[in-house]
Amino acid sequence: MLEKLNELERKALQQIKEINEIGQLNDLRVKLLGRKGELTQLLRGLKDLSADQRAEVGRVANELKERVENMLQQRNEELQKQVLNERLEAETIDVTLPGIPLLRGGKHPLTQIREEIQDIFISMGFSVAEGPEVELDYYNFEALNIPKDHPARDMQDSFYIDEDVLLRTHTSPVQVRTMEAMAPQLPVKIIVPGKVYRKDDDATHSPMFHQVEGLLVDTNITFAHLKAVLMTFARKIFGEQVKVRYRPSFFPFTEPSAEMDISCVHCNGEGCRVCSHTGWLEILGAGMVHPRVLEYGGYDPEKVSGFAFGMGIERIAMLKYGVNDLRLFFDNDLRFLKQF
Ligand SMILES: [Zn+2]
Repeated sequence: MLEKLNELERKALQQIKEINEIGQLNDLRVKLLGRKGELTQLLRGLKDLSADQRAEVGRVANELKERVENMLQQRNEELQKQVLNERLEAETIDVTLPGIPLLRGGKHPLTQIREEIQDIFISMGFSVAEGPEVELDYYNFEALNIPKDHPARDMQDSFYIDEDVLLRTHTSPVQVRTMEAMAPQLPVKIIVPGKVYRKDDDATHSPMFHQVEGLLVDTNITFAHLKAVLMTFARKIFGEQVKVRYRPSFFPFTEPSAEMDISCVHCNGEGCRVCSHTGWLEILGAGMVHPRVLEYGGYDPEKVSGFAFGMGIERIAMLKYGVNDLRLFFDNDLRFLKQF
């Protein structure tokens, strides 16, 4: 019996050494030590032995079982290590490979133009102010000298939330909001970039578009200041060669009011399709702040004066870049946007 056990152990250790897969190792464990395994089969002969012999053989069998278990465990660890090493070998990382490039975006052309406009006015001492896009009728119309049933409201038909609240039709409400907050301090010297909303939709109009508003209020401000500031702006954004002219116009919140044209940047004033062969392009509206608006803002029109102007950012971008359809700015077509 002891000889058979020795033989079984010798054979088992040999087999364990030869195994190269973890799965096979488990099979071998069952075959050697399992309930129907070789050791169990062998120990069935115990019943034919004397009590002393049984104790001796039992002890040897237990020790054998322990050694075989240890051997199996050891081999199992070796094989796991081997598998891991093979994996590490196969999956080496090549740190010299180029990485996945990050896609880099660019600024939208309207953002570029807005920032350019802002920079020009900031360089002349203006600061940037903001106001709500959902605005009270009071600030959008009333305080800008556009009472209810004033015909000028028809030109700015808007989206109403209710009778007293609407999406602002221009950035001008921020004029009164800023004056209210600042009065009686001087000077008020702001520009107001932002989104505005009107019920228009065609090649040159969009229901949402961007304006930049400007306001300067101080003592002794005249139309000459207005012309100097806007001339400087036009030359900085369109080039030193640009000429400027003013045409009388009407806005309820300025008096007198004017439209400012620049000499056509495409034909230098000779006349072309862009300028409808006039040689001039209209770029903004401006004027001296109406005394009523100064009063609404909390200033005494007898003591202070000011000028205001407003322009569409889309229009400036279209003229500067030669874009003929405003909707291109909002289509999100990368073929268009990548050109800027
Ligand atoms: Zn032209």
